[in-house]
Amino acid sequence: KRSQTAVENWTRSTCVYCGVGCQMEVGTANGQVVQIKPAASPVNRGHLCVKGRYAYEFGTADDRISEPMLRRDGTWQPVSWDEAFDFIASRLAAIRQQYGADAIGVLGSARATNEENYLAQKFARVVLGTNNIDCCARVCHTPSAKALKLMLGTGAATNAFDDIEHTQLLMLSGCNPTENHPVVGARIKQAVRRGAKLIVIDPRRTELAAMADLHLAVRPGHNVELYNAMAATVVEEGLLDADFIANRVDGLAEFSQFVRDYAPEAVAASCGVPAGLIRSAARLYAGAKPAMCFHGLGLTEHVQGTEGVMAQINLALLTGNLGKRGAGINPLRGQNNVQGSAQMGCDPATLTGAQSFVEAGAHFKSLWGASLPASHGLDLLSMLDAARAGRFKALWAVGYDIYPTLAHVAETAQALAALELVIVQDLFLTETAKAFGTVFLPAASVFERDGTFMNSDRRVQRVRQAIKPPGNAQPDWWIIQTLAQRMGHQTGFDFDGPEAIWNEVRQLWPAGAGLSYARLEHESLNWPCPDEAHPGTPVLHIDRFASGPRATLACLPFTPSPEQPSQDYPFVLVTGRTLYHFNAGTLSYRTPNARLRPSDTLDMSPQDARRLLLNDGEPVRIRSRYGEAVLPLRISPTIKPGELFATFHRPDLWVNRLTSSYRDNRVNSPEYKRTAVTVEPVFGGGN
Ligand code: SF4
Repeated sequence: KRSQTAVENWTRSTCVYCGVGCQMEVGTANGQVVQIKPAASPVNRGHLCVKGRYAYEFGTADDRISEPMLRRDGTWQPVSWDEAFDFIASRLAAIRQQYGADAIGVLGSARATNEENYLAQKFARVVLGTNNIDCCARVCHTPSAKALKLMLGTGAATNAFDDIEHTQLLMLSGCNPTENHPVVGARIKQAVRRGAKLIVIDPRRTELAAMADLHLAVRPGHNVELYNAMAATVVEEGLLDADFIANRVDGLAEFSQFVRDYAPEAVAASCGVPAGLIRSAARLYAGAKPAMCFHGLGLTEHVQGTEGVMAQINLALLTGNLGKRGAGINPLRGQNNVQGSAQMGCDPATLTGAQSFVEAGAHFKSLWGASLPASHGLDLLSMLDAARAGRFKALWAVGYDIYPTLAHVAETAQALAALELVIVQDLFLTETAKAFGTVFLPAASVFERDGTFMNSDRRVQRVRQAIKPPGNAQPDWWIIQTLAQRMGHQTGFDFDGPEAIWNEVRQLWPAGAGLSYARLEHESLNWPCPDEAHPGTPVLHIDRFASGPRATLACLPFTPSPEQPSQDYPFVLVTGRTLYHFNAGTLSYRTPNARLRPSDTLDMSPQDARRLLLNDGEPVRIRSRYGEAVLPLRISPTIKPGELFATFHRPDLWVNRLTSSYRDNRVNSPEYKRTAVTVEPVFGGGN
């Protein structure tokens, strides 16, 4: 009905869901959003997916919270902003005095703008005096950022989406763009129809896998082994780009020796891909110039997530597929502003612009007029570990529902229960707030504030206010700034709006200095963009890598995950997303998409379903070593026997009760993509 209301105003803004960053026109009437239509932009070229098109009814959902609240005697009570700020300021001061600043942490998120994430990390470092600041990138693409930074010098996608139309070959690893990045998925399909080759590396036969030239159905968690085998083929068969290596790559002799142990014939059984297919994929990738890689969380959310991305970069270095249009390594960022939240400094180890304390610390100190915290910060998972150990006492989560979304819910619950203060800032009483919240701060939605988001291809785009927030809800930047002032920081937190905050970011981040609001009013630009005359940088590493003139191949032994199937837990479960929903469902389950796909599902192969006498649609109990969940079964030929796939969007279905606490061996990201489970009918039976 709402979409039939006559629109009074159209406001151009950016989609709140995935990292593609589609531009949209937001139609409003009577102070409400009543329609969304696509805008022409270099990213989405007049298209939106089913998520973006219906992404507005959450703003007026019945359970939207528009007043600050304190939990008193177990009951949430509305209070004024003054009362909420006084309570938080006094509790934070008391906790800091008793346990020290490092007993407190702050979480930014993709739901907040760049400006708000910047203020959140400034608050942690300047007001609280701790580097305990992190964001949702920790659970998705921190492994990508780490791998790209380590090997090439910039922790972000090497190319713009426009390069899809300039490539000869697309290699997709652990991603399902037609569901999770649908507008990019459509561009990939069009490129393939025009003649680009397609290799898909994924345990499941996704829509793009079905239309690929080659589909390598790798066993979950065996990516390093598979990439090493492809690299071994490239070396053994002389498929190298000799000029590129001579001019720009070190370490070939050692690497060639190392990958001898990974001949396709030696690893085929372990990684689940026939040797001939591995060799064919290596030949196809090496022979296509240029060839472009995209990857998703199927590559990163493993104990060897960072090393999986590094092993993929090895292939690009060996074949010269970097530093040019239509080539490169491109993480498909899952959330609208997850690139921006980490880039703004919501990371315990780096400052705004992913700058190191050594290189940039003096500049920050001088501009902020404050000293920086001396101790190393804790990442999100380490904060929760410290909470369970009694060393961490207070957490402020801005737009991030960690309780149902982190792996191993039982451990997350133990950590949150051990905290003395949990501040939740969101649109709704999230699961984290309901179970553990002490204070709730009502935030403005994406349509009710100004700012910028940074998408997957390093493009900064405006978010524009179309309507007023309801009741006393406020933009995140206002909430953070007002609390900072209440805690005695009048200067440094006296911005008159997002543009002023962004101008401070531009002073501190050289690669973003040219991205003024005046320019962003009319265009969107990929950083690095160091001055206002600079056109932006769609392709990185053209003449030299950000880290220097030469990159070094990495020798990466395959390490099996400790999470292994057994007689009791014979299946390997992978979790992931569907086209209709987004992450914890906080927004998408309050839109018409809830009717389009009401429930999460467990996908099982027809062979396994027959063997276990399970029927399509029947509820099944899934048990792992860590917990259990019940989901309706979906029999799907896209799944191999012995493997399962579950979506995780409905917080009340608690799919993350199943996932383990194993983490990436370099950056501590959870291993969501490999859990040993068993499945049984809800009313008895078993396997
Ligand atoms: Fe575009 Fe992603 Fe939003 Fe869909 S969810 S409209 S692909 S930004």
